[in-house]
Amino acid sequence: MIYKQIKYFLVTILLIGITPVFYFWGLYHTELNAIQYQRQNTAKHQLNVSQKEIYSIASELGTSLKLLSDNRMLLQFIQDPSTKNRALLESLWSLTATNYAYISQIRFIGIDGKEISRLDEKNSQINITSIHQLQDKSQRDYFLYAQTLKADELGFFGIDLEVEHGQVIMPPRPSLRIFTPVEIGEERKGYLFFNLDLYEIISKLEDSLEGKDLVEFVNEKGYYLASKDGSKTLGHLIPERRSYNLSIESPELWEKIKSQNSGIFSTKENAYSYTKLIFDGDFASRSFYLILSSPNTLQVTNLDHKLTFIIYESIMAMIVIIFISVLIARYIAKHRTTSLESQLALAALNGMSALVITDKNNRIIKVNEEFTRLSGWEEDEVLGLSPSIFKSGEHKKSFYSSMWAAIQSNGLWEGEITNKRKDGTLLTEILRIQAICNYDGKMEYFIASFVDITARKELENRLRDLSEKDVLTQCWNRRKFESEFLSIVDEEQTNNEIGKSCLAIIDIDHFKRINDQYGHDVGDKVITQVGSILDSEGRKSDFVARIGGEEFAIILPNTTLKEADIILNRLRVAINLYEGVKITISGGLTDICISSESSYKRADLALYESKTSGRNQISSFSSAEMEQIA
Ligand code: GH3
Ligand code: MG
Ligand code: MG
Repeated sequence: MIYKQIKYFLVTILLIGITPVFYFWGLYHTELNAIQYQRQNTAKHQLNVSQKEIYSIASELGTSLKLLSDNRMLLQFIQDPSTKNRALLESLWSLTATNYAYISQIRFIGIDGKEISRLDEKNSQINITSIHQLQDKSQRDYFLYAQTLKADELGFFGIDLEVEHGQVIMPPRPSLRIFTPVEIGEERKGYLFFNLDLYEIISKLEDSLEGKDLVEFVNEKGYYLASKDGSKTLGHLIPERRSYNLSIESPELWEKIKSQNSGIFSTKENAYSYTKLIFDGDFASRSFYLILSSPNTLQVTNLDHKLTFIIYESIMAMIVIIFISVLIARYIAKHRTTSLESQLALAALNGMSALVITDKNNRIIKVNEEFTRLSGWEEDEVLGLSPSIFKSGEHKKSFYSSMWAAIQSNGLWEGEITNKRKDGTLLTEILRIQAICNYDGKMEYFIASFVDITARKELENRLRDLSEKDVLTQCWNRRKFESEFLSIVDEEQTNNEIGKSCLAIIDIDHFKRINDQYGHDVGDKVITQVGSILDSEGRKSDFVARIGGEEFAIILPNTTLKEADIILNRLRVAINLYEGVKITISGGLTDICISSESSYKRADLALYESKTSGRNQISSFSSAEMEQIA
């Protein structure tokens, strides 16, 4: 039962749960998409902001560089590198460097590549390099590049390592240089350089963003040019950092970046937005990628309110669905059982047995088809009637009263009964009547089921007759006589109130002669005739049996010897008068006493006496006479 319920539950939940599941699934994904869309928009926006900021910084710096390169103080210093002019220039540069946090160095390098004036800024500390410390940068690639610039052109170089006195500064610091030629009139006097602190630029960018995005620059080969994590930058220049390459760390992202100059990308952990920055025009044509990344917040714990609400809603819906499914499963299971039970009941009703169901007043409320087939009564003919209409009259009142007594006490009666059909013929049944009680134990219904044993009963009777009757005369045979005689003797022993019964033995006189004279067949007919006369001329209660070849015995119940003598003589005369072969009979008569043997013996002796006294007579030998002799 429980497995069935589980089965129905699963089927039900599948059927009624499928639509809500799709609904919430759809809702969830729509919301998820909306969130993603919003996040993508935010990412794009952030990217835009950063991009603008960079271009603004670049143009600001470009402008500053241009202004400083054309500045009167610089020109004055070039023409007259006096200590005073140097000091004036340095104070102007100090101001500029302090103003722009990301300017880490301002230099003027002569056309021969030697630094003429240099100012460093680190952590708001201005450091002016003394004349003796100034270096020769004529061999540095950026200087070689600077020489190719036209007047007024801006050069952009880097991002690469800082080298001082031919040594790479450790820890390595990525450096970006912008520079422009300084000319007086048509004559080139040198170059003005800005070294830019990329960490400061990145910090500035990150500050301008609303979220916690990480800003990184990556070159065209995937190496980090600038990142908060300084230890992974410049892998293309520092052999130990070669593995810090976006194409190795995030190949998919790198693929995407290579195929689209600008876009967004998500992995399980991070959300990225990126764009290619191209500096041209005043800058030499250089490009790199700006990448913003933030932890991917699309994890369940960080789902926004709407998503949480959808999940909450779907859980509630699921609980309701489960509840409904349980109810439905239980209902189906119960309904199925009930319908099974009613099917069983119907099958049982129309089974092998005939059924009559009556109510507590013993009025018929239901019969089945088998009943109609056996009894001939249709259901509508018997509804509301009492089953007593089926009574055959074969049973005494006491039979029915004991039947009802059994039903009242045990709720059950079983037995053989003979009823009558609608056409009046007898119907012998094995009947079982069962009472059905209500909750209070009161009898509400009676179910009478029966099978028809009429044919079997007839066969049984026939077989019994065959075993108890004499085939030739149809009188009782010797065996039946013996049992009947013994039961009479038994009664004699137990019940003295019953009147005396008598036993007579009858023998046909000189029967051998008949056989001899007419043949055996005629002899048989004579025997049959004698049996028939004894049976028909005697009383109904008398018991006639053929106990030997031409010998008969008659038990006369409740008959005195005197009465018996009269009856037997009447029989004797009847046989004498029989038309046909003339025969006589002799008889011996006695009263039956408590001993079967002595009773039989007395009758036999009496017969003997009849034979010896001339035949065709009845002699008596009473038990009283016997006692006298003894
Ligand atoms: P009694 O007057 O002394 O009785 O002379 P009885 O000839 O009748 O002698 P008994 O009774 O002793 O003989 C019976 C004979 O009956 C013997 C047998 O031949 C004959 N008999 C016995 N059974 C049958 C039978 O079934 N059919 C025929 N036809 N004859 C039988
Ligand atoms: Mg005989
Ligand atoms: Mg005889």
